[in-house]
Amino acid sequence: MSLRLINGRDVAAQVTEALNDRLQALRVQGTNPGLAVVVVGDDPASHVYVRMKGKACERLGMLSRTHILPSVTSEDELLDMIDSLNADVEIHGILCQLPLPPHIDERKVIERIDPHKDVDAFHPYNVGRMLIGDPLFLPATPAGIQRLLMSYDVETRGKHVVVLGRSNIVGKPMASILMQKGDGADATVTVAHSRSKDLAGLCRQADILIAAVGIPLFVKADMVKEGSVVIDVGTNRVDDATSDKGYRLVGDVDFDNVKEKVSAISPSPGGVGPMTIAMLMENTVKAAEMSLRH
Ligand code: NAP
Repeated sequence: MSLRLINGRDVAAQVTEALNDRLQALRVQGTNPGLAVVVVGDDPASHVYVRMKGKACERLGMLSRTHILPSVTSEDELLDMIDSLNADVEIHGILCQLPLPPHIDERKVIERIDPHKDVDAFHPYNVGRMLIGDPLFLPATPAGIQRLLMSYDVETRGKHVVVLGRSNIVGKPMASILMQKGDGADATVTVAHSRSKDLAGLCRQADILIAAVGIPLFVKADMVKEGSVVIDVGTNRVDDATSDKGYRLVGDVDFDNVKEKVSAISPSPGGVGPMTIAMLMENTVKAAEMSLRH
């Protein structure tokens, strides 16, 4: 069986390219989408992601504002900043990079963002709309995975998808997107987590396995069905003395061994990661389009 490598960089480039016409139409109407990213503290991975988001905006000629706040920022100060971004007509999308320092209540911050500017789609209003199948925005990572599957003509209708992980950011929204009616969905979804029994057996039932556990190389070849499709969401830093940075990124899937058994697989890096950024840009463009209709 020939193996298909699901290349997230290619699909992300197509998604981004397709935004140019929409950007042009917005600019004709005097609007350029603006994304504000707020990061609190000095988590190195957060700063890498924030830089990538800023660069993606700049490549599209969109307004990008990054607010880097010290880790001692109080919850009230952060909420005030969100209020001012909610009121800012140049800003159409707001996201607060997670995780936040422990003295700040993440839920309070997420719920303060205007749902129409909530391009991460983490606000309970947007989570609810996603669940009933009428989303304003879909969260970027699971939406990017759905788009990847569709781009590679991976049929989801009637297929058994096993999602490994139940986080609010990846696992739960992934399941709720793929269980909806319609193209790129209509799947039978199982969500597995650290309390699931016989995890390997569950995974072996999957026509499509989506791994989002955050453990390097967790999914081994004996956990996948012959001919299935595997999507690796994991982005894990592992020590590597041979790298300049002292680490390298690996996924949740033991790629080298799993690829021998499956029909298609997304690598990490180079799979889901670029899609997340592209979908965030798409959400920001959509937010700007919606702002003209209000
Ligand atoms: P998370 O919040 O830590 O959630 C991990 C999930 O995996 C939890 O539901 C946990 O179960 C489950 N889990 C942990 N150990 C397990 C085990 N031994 N067996 C079965 N399930 C287990 O992580 P996340 O935010 O969803 O992220 C997951 C991975 O995706 C990370 O590597 C992250 O860096 C990556 N990620 C990548 C992108 C991207 O754009 N490429 C975006 C987001 C996340 P419990 O709920 O029972 O604890």
